[in-house]
Parts: sequence; C-alpha cells; structure tokens
Amino acid sequence: MLDLSYDAPTPKTIAGAKDDWELVIGMEVHAQVSSNAKLFSGASTKFGAEPNSHVAFVDSAMPGMLPVINEFCIEQAVRTGLGLKAEINLKSAFDRKNYFYPDLPQGYQISQLYHPIVGEGEVLVEMGDGTARNVRVERIHLEQDAGKSIHDMDPNMSFVDLNRTGVALMEIVSRPDIRGPEEAAAYLGKLRQILRYLGTCDGNMQNGSMRADVNVSVCRPGQYEKYQATQDFGHLGTRCEIKNMNSMRFIQMAIDVEARRQIAILEDGGEIVQETRLYDADKNETRSMRSKEEAHDYRYFPDPDLLPLEIEQGWVDDIGATLPELPDAKKARFINDFKLSDYDASVLTAEVENANYFEAVAKGRDGKMSANWVINELFGRLKKDEKTITDSPVNPTQLGGIIELISSDAISGKIAKDLFEIVYTEGGDPAEIVEARGMKQVTDTGAIEAAVDQIIADNPAQVEKAKQNPKLAGWFVGQVMKATGGKANPKAVNELVAKKLAD
Ligand code: ADP
Ligand code: MG
Repeated sequence: MLDLSYDAPTPKTIAGAKDDWELVIGMEVHAQVSSNAKLFSGASTKFGAEPNSHVAFVDSAMPGMLPVINEFCIEQAVRTGLGLKAEINLKSAFDRKNYFYPDLPQGYQISQLYHPIVGEGEVLVEMGDGTARNVRVERIHLEQDAGKSIHDMDPNMSFVDLNRTGVALMEIVSRPDIRGPEEAAAYLGKLRQILRYLGTCDGNMQNGSMRADVNVSVCRPGQYEKYQATQDFGHLGTRCEIKNMNSMRFIQMAIDVEARRQIAILEDGGEIVQETRLYDADKNETRSMRSKEEAHDYRYFPDPDLLPLEIEQGWVDDIGATLPELPDAKKARFINDFKLSDYDASVLTAEVENANYFEAVAKGRDGKMSANWVINELFGRLKKDEKTITDSPVNPTQLGGIIELISSDAISGKIAKDLFEIVYTEGGDPAEIVEARGMKQVTDTGAIEAAVDQIIADNPAQVEKAKQNPKLAGWFVGQVMKATGGKANPKAVNELVAKKLAD
C-alpha cells in the first residue's frame, strides 16, 4: 500500500509508492485577454467596478441582440500565438457550447471547439535544476468568460454580477508534456511571463486573469516514452481534471495529492474514473465534481450569429513585426552583452519592467556591477517598502550615477550604500550630493598615510601582536576607515597598513 509519509515527490517519480510511478500532466490555461472592451460587446472590462455596471445588452442576452467581434481581441490572440511560436489559423470559427450557466444569461458560451484561431506552439520551461524542456501547446482558442454568482451576501438569495460576462478569454491547451508539480508551476510561470511581455494578458492570478484546469494521470515508467513515440494516449493512464486553479502553490499541492490518490487506487487493484475534480485547499484533497458519465452534452454547433473568422496573412505578419523581444531572447542577450550569470539574467528578465530598468542602468556601464546594484540594493530596498520597480524612488539615471562614482573611485563601496539611501529617501543627483556632503573617497596617500601612522603610534601593543600574526592587520584597516569616516580608499589603506607593519 501507499505510504503517505514520504517527502515531496521528485518531478517524475512518486517515492514511497509500492512501485515506481510517473506523473503526466496537461494544462488548460484560461488567460483573460488584455483589452478595453469585451469579446462581442463594447462594454468595459475594468476589474473591480460596481456590480453590473459594465454590461451591454448583448452581454445580458437581451432578445434580438447580436454579437459583434472585437478585432483587438483577435489581434491579441494572434500576438499570443506568434509569441508561442504557434501556427496561426487564417480561418477559424465560433461555436456555441450549450449549458445552463447561472452567470451567462444567453445559456451558451461562445467558444471555438472545431476551428481554433491558434494551432500548435511551444513553451520552453526552465527548471530550478538548470534543465529546460519544451512543453507543446496544442491549441489556443478564444471564448467568452462567465460572470460571477455571489452566494454569501444574503442567507436566502444569490446575486449575480455580469461585469465579467463576455470578457474575452484565451484557452491555452498544452499537450500532456508536463511531468511533475514543479514543472506545472514552471510552465504556468513561463506562460504568464510571455503573456505579460506580449501585453496580451496581465497575468494577475489573484483577480482570476489566469486560471488553470490541471489534468493529472499516473503511469508506469516507460509508458510516457511509448506515448511520445506514437502520440497514442492509450499508453497513458486515465486522467482526472482539477478545475479552476489560480494559485501556483495550490496547483502543486493539488497535483501531488491527486497523484497519490490515483496511485493508492491503482495499487489496490482499482481503476481511475475519468472525471472533473475540485481541490479543497483546507483539507488538501481533491473531490469529485462530476464524472464523465454525467458529463453534459454541450450540443456544440457553429454560432449562426457569427460568420467564420477569416484573417489575412499580411495582417498576421504586421502583428509579428511588432512583437517585443521575448524573455528567452532577452535573457540570452543579457548573458551575452552584459556578461551576467544565468541566475542574474533570469531575475532581471522575470518582469519586463525590471529588464528595462536594468538595461537603462547598465547601458555604457559595468554590467555585472549594475546587476548587483539593481538586484541586491534596489530590489532589496523596494521589497522592504513593498514597492515595485514602477514606483521606485530611484530612477535608472540616479542609480547609474552612483555606479559611475564607484567605478571612477570617487566613492568607496561602503559610502555608495549610504549615498544610495540618501538618493532613495531624499532624491537628488548623486554626484552633487557627494560633492555637497564631502563624501568623496580619500585617495590622497599622504592623508591616508598620516592616519595610518597615527593609529600605529597610538597602539604599540597591537602593533607587536600584528607583527606576529598578520591577520590582525584588519583591525588597523578598520581603525583607519573609522578615522577617515569611511572615505579612505580601502585598497590604499590595506597596502599602507601592510607596508607599515612590515617595517
Ligand atoms: P477534453 O477536450 O475532453 O478536455 P483534451 O484531449 O482536449 O480533452 O485534453 C484536455 C487536456 O488534458 C489537455 O491539456 C491534454 O494535454 C490533457 N490530457 C489528455 N490526456 C491526458 C493524460 N492521460 N494525462 C494527463 N493529461 C492529459
Ligand atoms: Mg477540455
């Protein structure tokens, strides 16, 4: 039987089970399209407005209303497809998915089942251990979001807010190429990063701008390779779909607990029933929501109110020409041009705003030093204040100025930190502050020598000890730095102290 006391699973194998098992995961990610208006109406998509204040007649399904496609949403889907190196289908079509949705009054969702706008693409997923794999994207289709039912405002009534009804979603469907909880989170994180670079989805998971349905199955070692070779799902285990997850942490916990549940059943001689499940974070368990047998027949059919969507290759090419530099390319360039480590480049390209800030600082300056200052000093200081780069009190010109003062030996590294704090809290031009407050480094060896001689004269006992044990020289260096208010050039001090003690 399954021993439940094991550690977190490695990406592929579940330790502690009687036999080895491997995980297979495919994700359907719903990403809200960044656009001012909804997919088929001119109503605003703004988050957090008064309930039912952004509802057009067509969103509330008033009789006789017709959907009108929002060209910008199509453009965003195409841009997303191009960003994921996917095929763009010049012909696609909208279907009705019929269902009783309490918060979608028309009684069906307009989606693209048979002819999605985007076909096969890929996402390069980097793992913490330095390995990277491509996860294939099967398709991206456009569809409408539903509204929100509110059950906790009144003991006897439910309310409905249609503000989100009809907002455009991209459903991004992966192949079952994800092999563990960490990989699932890394895939979603990478997808989110790319969409944010593209400006096609804000990636705000808390507001529900990105949600994932996570399909999980387990199989014996070797089965996945057979699937890879043949693309025949028959080699894989039966999957269960965990619906509507919007937290990276919960996704990983849900995959873990669902895989264990399936393994326990299989090792007991049971069978997995394909079904939709919900994750309960409080109990850390998944529960059946509906099984395949009770699955609804959605009676999909082409929406008669919408013509098939035909777009031109020229238009696709125009969109392609405006694509920004994407995370992988930017990271590679940072490593190459600024001689950054893989890690630093990853941190700096995680968000495009950070990358732009860094580039403005590093341009024409030392790349590694710029990276250190942005990551360690600036990010650290912003974090302390719960600020992001967009509301940083220090701009790239100011931080660049500080770095230049260090590079030219005008100030020491220690003084630079004080200077940074002054610029952060009071603002101003770093070079002027250094001048006005006498923070310049003392490189004049005469002045440093005088200070060293003084300390040596005042501390004969220490001098004797230091002559026996050269490690004690550090104490003299510290004293000299103290005497000069931290402004002495540390290199010059070290050299002079060593020389004088050797005399
Ligand atoms: P449906 O349309 O019934 O939801 P799909 O074939 O479109 O089914 O698959 C939905 C998702 O499930 C895709 O992301 C796919 O990769 C994933 N998936 C399919 N088979 C498996 C499996 N055996 N294990 C894990 N994920 C799977
Ligand atoms: Mg599906």
